[in-house]
Amino acid sequence: MNCIHCENPNPERWFYCRSCGNKASEALYTTNLFMMSESGKRSDVEFSVKNMDEHIATVKKEKSERQNKIWKERIKQARIN
Ligand SMILES: [Zn+2]
Repeated sequence: MNCIHCENPNPERWFYCRSCGNKASEALYTTNLFMMSESGKRSDVEFSVKNMDEHIATVKKEKSERQNKIWKERIKQARIN
């Protein structure tokens, strides 16, 4: 990513350009500001909690689907025998 002011290459993604001293990237600046703000922290927590709930739901669903499959196989076997 190059500096938006002087086009100086900024591979280490420095917050400020090492060549001209200006903010190297508008987007980087906004993201960093958001992460530092309280609302940024709070939505971060909510996001991870929601992800955990979804993760548990997915694991439960997969488990019950696997058990259903096992039972279907057993019933099929019992009918054959
Ligand atoms: Zn620059």
